[in-house]
Amino acid sequence: MRRLRRIALPTRALDALAAYQSALDRAVKAERKKRLPKVGERVEATWQGRRPNRAIEAVRCALRAMASGLERCMYCEDSHGCDVEHLYPKVPRPERTFVWSNLLWICAICNRQKNDAFDEAMLDPTVDDPFEHLALSLATGRYVAREGSHRGAATLRVMPRLASEQTLIRGRHNAVVKLHAFLRDYDGHRAQGRIAEADAIRRVVVEEPFSATFAALLRASKEPGAADVLDDDLLAVLSRQPEMYDWLNDADAARADAARTKIEALAKAIRIRRSSRKKRAPRA
Ligand SMILES: [Zn+2]
Repeated sequence: MRRLRRIALPTRALDALAAYQSALDRAVKAERKKRLPKVGERVEATWQGRRPNRAIEAVRCALRAMASGLERCMYCEDSHGCDVEHLYPKVPRPERTFVWSNLLWICAICNRQKNDAFDEAMLDPTVDDPFEHLALSLATGRYVAREGSHRGAATLRVMPRLASEQTLIRGRHNAVVKLHAFLRDYDGHRAQGRIAEADAIRRVVVEEPFSATFAALLRASKEPGAADVLDDDLLAVLSRQPEMYDWLNDADAARADAARTKIEALAKAIRIRRSSRKKRAPRA
């Protein structure tokens, strides 16, 4: 997990989400008055019913562009993200079902594990810097909660696979090994003036899964004791090629820029229906 930047949705899409949310809030309120309220079913049906709408399509488009690598899951960064995730689950927190800041991008495996498990202390990669709460060992590929961080611990409690699943641990370890090779190759190409070859390596690095390993490596290189964690050789590469520190941020910004036209087109196509109270009420 690493810090990701949330894309600003166009006003028209935010208005549509707000209208869906108020309609859902009213429906939930009415449901709760019944003898045997079926709030969960109502919330799920409303969410599913809105999924084909352009506003939700714009949400998916923005989340895919915010996710690291090639649309990787925002939690494990390994599998392809395939669904909108509610950080605060729809049930028991229906009041955040259509709230943009509550929506993330997740893979099927993480989604199954998180399900409705939730802890308010859980990290949000679009708000928090996960490295302030979780330490990623470059030697082993393991995550542990930083000492004293109850938020790091809460995140690993809700999503235990992040800390314990062998395929993720090994995948992160392999990612560190690959990074060493890629970054040295990049340096070699630059030294020989082979700019196109160097740039091809940069493009591969920023699309690799487990992008937090790269962020962790860059972070470790700036910390006291860097020489204990990273080879002198790699530290020398990083000091010769300081642009590497911007690669991930630049790639995140480029993905957001590339998605902007599509998101704006979707938002523009949202149909606004005038209700009897002459209030703008987006329908789809
Ligand atoms: Zn995942």
